[in-house]
Amino acid sequence: MNLIIAGGGVIGLTLGWRLLKAGYRATILDRAEAGRGASWAAAGMLAGASELGPDDAAALALSSQSQSLWPSFKAELEAISGSDIGYRDHGTILVAAHQAALDALHDSHRFYTSQGIHAEFLTPSQVVEREPAMAPSILGALMCKDDIQVDPRKLVSALRSVFLMSGGKLMEHCAVEQVLTVDGRATGVSVNGSTLDADAVVLACGWETGSLLGGSFGSEALTPVKGQIVSLLTDVSLLHHVLRADDFYLVQRDDYEIVLGATSERGVTDLSLDERRLQELFERACRVVPGLRGAKIKDHWAGIRPGSIDGLPLIGPTDAEGLFVATGHYRNGIFWAPATAELILKYINGDVSGAGANAFLPRRFAA
Ligand SMILES: Cc1cc2nc3c(=O)[nH]c(=O)nc-3n(C[C@H](O)[C@H](O)[C@H](O)COP(=O)(O)OP(=O)(O)OC[C@H]3O[C@@H](n4cnc5c(N)ncnc54)[C@H](O)[C@@H]3O)c2cc1C
Repeated sequence: MNLIIAGGGVIGLTLGWRLLKAGYRATILDRAEAGRGASWAAAGMLAGASELGPDDAAALALSSQSQSLWPSFKAELEAISGSDIGYRDHGTILVAAHQAALDALHDSHRFYTSQGIHAEFLTPSQVVEREPAMAPSILGALMCKDDIQVDPRKLVSALRSVFLMSGGKLMEHCAVEQVLTVDGRATGVSVNGSTLDADAVVLACGWETGSLLGGSFGSEALTPVKGQIVSLLTDVSLLHHVLRADDFYLVQRDDYEIVLGATSERGVTDLSLDERRLQELFERACRVVPGLRGAKIKDHWAGIRPGSIDGLPLIGPTDAEGLFVATGHYRNGIFWAPATAELILKYINGDVSGAGANAFLPRRFAA
């Protein structure tokens, strides 16, 4: 079977590689350079616990499947590509700097415990023992030791390599204009006025996927959420874990770089940078980690997260036979990429038994 994937972000590239391994032929089309959309902008937290709260029970199936897939996915990707993807499994510390945040941490702790997710409550002195750069004025924290992180730019570069090495065809600077259908079945796509035939098509264009769905359900369900983010350079390696508070996060890389994120601007699709927002983010982080004060700004960028109106991704078949969607991963696209690829592969194979998969079907928006 010959498959076309529209969109070469982390979702399209991971899926493309997975389909090749399963014996399919796969072509990825990207309107720009593959991997340079939201995936390039991400911080790279694989937050099996710390991203989830009591309202996110439906996302747990995808999170726990991704959590179990990541170690082997990483090992195979690094072995085949010969590239390091910045994988660190030191865990996340969720910090409460004020009473409302502490109450929310207690709620999260109860939720994690009820779901069998490991999380340990830490007193302020236990936090400072683990992270000496932290201000002792924090009220408490949760240690999520199973959380992981990767460097998303290294990740998408490695995925691009293994996709090509495995025989995939990548067409960059080729925007898919339309999905072509005959008698309700997808037969290919149009690109630059010409037709590319396919046995099945997967739309993985991030926040822009809706425009290709036409009037089909799901087209109105996507919502862009801009994120501005900054990387800082310090004189020493400041943090051992990913650190998250309710209004910022810090992700330490192996060198002296720390990524500080991120704004959340719903409905905004321009990539302009706002120094004032960056300064606010920096001030909030410095109150919790005073050692950041002397850090130098290395870079500042923005990306558009593919959000959805109910907060869950859209993964699965559409109302056209042979047309599938894989988008709406919002803040978790890097983390959920391996589980998404497995799920789409199942649908293409005609197996619809994925655990918890019904919650992600695009047709939930049909009404
Ligand atoms: C600031 C920020 C921080 C984040 N941090 C994290 C994090 O720590 N952990 C995490 O898991 N997630 C994080 N995310 C979310 C994550 O980046 C996204 O969920 C994920 O990258 C979505 O991947 P994607 O492949 O769907 O989209 P994208 O990476 O945006 O890829 C979509 C691709 O489709 C292409 N395209 C669009 N239209 C067309 C068309 N018509 N034809 C062909 N190609 C087209 C685009 O050029 C693009 O390359 C973050 C996002 C941001 C912005």
